[in-house]
Amino acid sequence: MALWASEVVTPYKVLKDSYVLIDVERGVIKGFSDKLPSDVKEAEEYPNGIIIPGMIDIHIHGAYGRDVSEGKVEAVLEMAKKLTRHGVTSFLPTVVTSPLSAIKESVRAVREALNIGQKGSRILGVHVEGPYLSVEKAGAEPVAYLRKPNLDEFLELYKISGGSLRRITIAPELEGSLELIREAVGRGVIVSLGHSNATYDEAVRAMDEGALLATHLFNGMRGLHHREPGVVGAFLERDDAYVEVIADLVHLHRATLRLVYKCKGSGRMLLITDSIAATGLPDGIYELGPQKVTVKGGVCRLEDGTLAGSTLTMDRALKNMVKEVGVPLREAVEMATSNPAKLLGLKSLGEVKVGAKADLAVLSRDLEVVATYIEGTKVYASD
Ligand code: FE
Repeated sequence: MALWASEVVTPYKVLKDSYVLIDVERGVIKGFSDKLPSDVKEAEEYPNGIIIPGMIDIHIHGAYGRDVSEGKVEAVLEMAKKLTRHGVTSFLPTVVTSPLSAIKESVRAVREALNIGQKGSRILGVHVEGPYLSVEKAGAEPVAYLRKPNLDEFLELYKISGGSLRRITIAPELEGSLELIREAVGRGVIVSLGHSNATYDEAVRAMDEGALLATHLFNGMRGLHHREPGVVGAFLERDDAYVEVIADLVHLHRATLRLVYKCKGSGRMLLITDSIAATGLPDGIYELGPQKVTVKGGVCRLEDGTLAGSTLTMDRALKNMVKEVGVPLREAVEMATSNPAKLLGLKSLGEVKVGAKADLAVLSRDLEVVATYIEGTKVYASD
């Protein structure tokens, strides 16, 4: 099978008027060609189309009326199906802080969903945001369920996940957090720092233990002060650290996004959605874990006005970075594809290259999703 588009975004350059050749049986990319090889029987052509790697969202709570924190297998599976319409071919379902029993339930549900292996966006594992977070910087994480870092609890969660716990967000200033970070990193779990009031020094100590990702940089953390640079300063300064951003232009001003890009370059910046169940649905009242969230004009807030997740989608985040922030398309694509893949150690995902899985999104000139493929099979086409 082959796909043709006027542009194909590869890790090395943007190919013009090129075919992407796909081995459908193995679901991988075989090569590239200017002309359709004579042995290829099936080709789909996208004039004015841009082929990019399928996008990877590593911080997403919900979409289309479902929430990972429902603790239901169907919720995760339904999200997986719906996300393909936004060009998302892999995602890390994210559990918001809830009573510990509910967190366990959700982790178990993601593990089960992952083992079902349905057609749809790939479930990469689970991200638990909390419950070891700062009361001062809880944001929309319910304070009542925040806990002190506890190694035994963490190990139990890990066990329940069957090794699918891929990421945990923690506040490094809490007593016992360094031990927990060490243990998690040792098990190959990505530790990200967030919902934290840590000082610069506290952040650096945790980063030295291997916590090299910032959870929604700027949001839910001590701001950048010139005498106390905090978590933000520590992450902007350090070249080997990754930062994820909510590029909905509500959580962060476009100038802030531009500043982050100037500090980190495209290689260490990740686009995520932090989206909730309201995503893809009209304004109204929704749930985020145990909390009520009011969505007005697509912006999600708790009763007291605190921002509570987003209704952002990955295609929109990519478009915002290009059209509003002014990042070149190829670099914005990296932030949504190869960077999360690299961070999670997924070698066959996130790039359009020979041998990689044929997880692809086709965009229009206006950066709207036209079609999505997973392992060479079309899973979504716009009308
Ligand atoms: Fe958060």
